Amino acid sequence: MINKEVRVRFAPSPTGYLHIGGLRTALYNYLFAKNNKGKFILRIEDTDRNRYVDGALDNLISTLNWAGLTADEGPETGGIFGPYLQSERLDIYKSHIKNLLVNKKAYYCFCTQERLRDLREKQKQEGLQTKYDKHCLSLSQNEIDINLRNNLTYVIRLNIESGKDISFTDLIRGEVVFNTDTIDDQVLIKSDGFPTYHFANVVDDHLMQITHVIRGEEWISSTPKHVLLYDYFNWEKPNFAHLPLLLNPDKSKLSKRQGDVAVEDYRDKGYLKDALLNFIALLGWNAGDDKEFYKMDQLINSFSLERVNKSGAVFNTEKLDWLNAEHLRKLTNEEILNMLKQELINTELVIKNLSDAHLLLIIEAMKERVSFVKEFITSCPYFYSEPTEYDECVIKKKWKEDSPKLLKLFSDGINKIENPSKEDFESTLKNICVEKNIGLGKLIHPLRLALSGVGIGPGIFDLTYILGKEETIKRIDKALEIIIN
Ligand code: GLU
Repeated sequence: MINKEVRVRFAPSPTGYLHIGGLRTALYNYLFAKNNKGKFILRIEDTDRNRYVDGALDNLISTLNWAGLTADEGPETGGIFGPYLQSERLDIYKSHIKNLLVNKKAYYCFCTQERLRDLREKQKQEGLQTKYDKHCLSLSQNEIDINLRNNLTYVIRLNIESGKDISFTDLIRGEVVFNTDTIDDQVLIKSDGFPTYHFANVVDDHLMQITHVIRGEEWISSTPKHVLLYDYFNWEKPNFAHLPLLLNPDKSKLSKRQGDVAVEDYRDKGYLKDALLNFIALLGWNAGDDKEFYKMDQLINSFSLERVNKSGAVFNTEKLDWLNAEHLRKLTNEEILNMLKQELINTELVIKNLSDAHLLLIIEAMKERVSFVKEFITSCPYFYSEPTEYDECVIKKKWKEDSPKLLKLFSDGINKIENPSKEDFESTLKNICVEKNIGLGKLIHPLRLALSGVGIGPGIFDLTYILGKEETIKRIDKALEIIIN
């Protein structure tokens, strides 16, 4: 049981797009916050000016909003711990670095790029770990003042004592220990005056009262530096939880080369946000059973960090497709209708304008057969326009000598009924087959071919009913003219 209000943050650097791994980090933070009735904070870590990309921030926020992971505090929402953009917090970092400088926990370093390069080369040649040699730690206050007055370029480094073990308890991995001999005197303030990730991250996590730092495994080697900073400031440390890596099916680290990694790509391909979140949630977490289908509220109720795995999670889009179909089926027809209308606006096919009532019939007939909203168009274009060709294989297999005659009988039968219902189409077809003493398939298959141009689709009476009397008759006539065997 956690007593303090849980406050977690998602702290992306806006570098262009939201990576699918970033979405998982955001989601786990969100689920953990909501599960504990806590707060989910969005903080933008934009202090690396070299990586600044125009429009990246808006894109990031709109993608998170699309996914429904809206922040309780953040650049859009505001909050009492703001600003939530690190580039707007430079004064805060400046005042905090002073504190460390006074206590010699951090120091000015005026070393030139040349000196640092030579040092690295020398260490490499000697087979040593490449590390800063604390050369500037011994500068007197007087020397520092003179250098500053002379406007020499400098950075500020963290003063790491060598030969010490730094440990912390990771909520997923347990006890983690790093020896300081493996850690460089990390730059905290860069020569452009901006803080590095490490410094700004720790200062902000403290000031924003973050209780749990939940982030990807790639940051675990940064954590000892952060632990040191908390100790140097005499601040209480948050809990740490490092999430397992996301892997390609060949177990390499998930990369652009093997598929899409931007959340926008999945959105644009028509994945439902609930399916994507459900899928992402299972990349590294399970509730201890084999349940796979989750809606958001179920995820919130079931999520716990204790059940996050240590080992990497394989990104398998087959499962994502399956989940998309499952989530699609759980939507109401009216919900699908709105999405379908949007797809129809976007489609390049030349199609008829159908009424909502008509589209709802198509949705009902096809719901069990599609995995994506766009497939309500692409898998059954014949609902929107008459077929322009007929599948050769189906003609060969299913179009028999008596097909034209049977289709004509059907068409005449339907013609006599005013406003035929689905049952009228069914009874007309069945009566003909009984009368002719033939199996239903003898009429169903050529009828489907005539109406849709293909051999598979929804129930034949759904098809005829949705097309309606006039269209059914018209299409049969056209097929009879064109299909000759
Ligand atoms: N800005 C870091 C990133 O881009 C945040 C890492 C962290 O959560 O501490 O992922």
